Amino acid sequence: MSKKSVANLTEADLSGKRVFVRVDFNVPLNEAGAITDDTRIRAALPTIKYLTEKGAKVVLGSHMGRPKGQVVESMRLTPVAARLSELLGQDVVKCDDCIGDAVSATVSGLSNGQVALLENLRFNPGEEKNDPEFAKQLAANADVYVNDAFGTAHRAHGSTEGVTHHVDTSVGGLLIEKELKFLKGAIEAPKRPLVAIVGGSKVSSKIGVIKTLLEKCDKLIIGGGMIFTFYKAQGLAVGGSLVEEDKVDLAKSLMEQAEGKILLPTDVVIADNFAPDANAKTVSVKEIPDGWMGLDIGPDSVKVFQDALADCGTVIWNGPMGVFEFDKFAVGTEAIANSLAELTGKGCITIIGGGDSVAAVEKVGVAEKMSHISTGGGASLELLEGKELPGIVALDDA
Ligand code: AMP
Repeated sequence: MSKKSVANLTEADLSGKRVFVRVDFNVPLNEAGAITDDTRIRAALPTIKYLTEKGAKVVLGSHMGRPKGQVVESMRLTPVAARLSELLGQDVVKCDDCIGDAVSATVSGLSNGQVALLENLRFNPGEEKNDPEFAKQLAANADVYVNDAFGTAHRAHGSTEGVTHHVDTSVGGLLIEKELKFLKGAIEAPKRPLVAIVGGSKVSSKIGVIKTLLEKCDKLIIGGGMIFTFYKAQGLAVGGSLVEEDKVDLAKSLMEQAEGKILLPTDVVIADNFAPDANAKTVSVKEIPDGWMGLDIGPDSVKVFQDALADCGTVIWNGPMGVFEFDKFAVGTEAIANSLAELTGKGCITIIGGGDSVAAVEKVGVAEKMSHISTGGGASLELLEGKELPGIVALDDA
């Protein structure tokens, strides 16, 4: 990456130093307050271990949920500290605040290789406001700053951007380095052919990424609810399917610009209502009757998409092919997930761009088989759109 990485820092740079690491420990909790998925904690382990092995005093900071600048008891990071202690095999010191004298005392008292976890950064209103005073207080406990929270790198907050103005050394963590390698690599110097698959509900939320990907990729496969806006643009009847009327002209001009690069489904699975147990049937996209709505791509479309993917060097996937939350309408999404897993085995670089597509590959049980699963939905979309992320721009140049 063009930014300095923690991997560039040696034991001499790190031993005995207070290293503040912004991580993304925004994990889901159940009603009893137990962690239901610790993927994000595991994703930060390589950076944490790198630092402890080099003798750093590691201070971790994260947000959880949306406490909106107030202390919310159910959003404390106490269960995260317990889980992290288990995963690291060493006790993690949990602080009750993220700034202030008590935190400074705890951090100064750490031995080399010890780890402390600050309290939820968003309990302090200065975090999301990127208040310089708050950032300065965070930096007061840090000799070195490491950003490894890819999921919040697109936000300029106190702990992602502000803090870098008050610390001499600001670098990216190993997770951020990996995210940039795959996501930027796919856009800037992909192994070709590069095929992008974009799905999900709305054209409006993906328009930025569709436009950029159209320029960069060799083929663009479109699925999900947004296909019906494209069909409407072609003058087809879409029944009760999801359509963004105000994006029909945009869809039309995208099709014209794309010069045949865009592939749309040829058949769809339609339902007589939006429910998991709705009556369903498969029809050609030219034959969607009134009163029915398309909720998945059909088997012929899957075949067309698999053929388009067959010889590709890189695939980027963002957004499901249908309403995969309902088993009956998850078939298309699952077939694409399985195809990508197979392609990885044949040497194709497969990148899952965050959010619902990650949930889909996990549901199918093929997450391990992908080259890269992004830990940031919004951040990965912005990177793929070619935007600069404030939490990365702020780091020292390599
Ligand atoms: P997004 O957040 O834009 O990636 O959209 C993901 C959502 O799109 C998922 O919750 C899907 O259920 C939904 N979705 C996918 N296909 C359709 C469809 N044909 N009709 C309505 N919603 C859909």
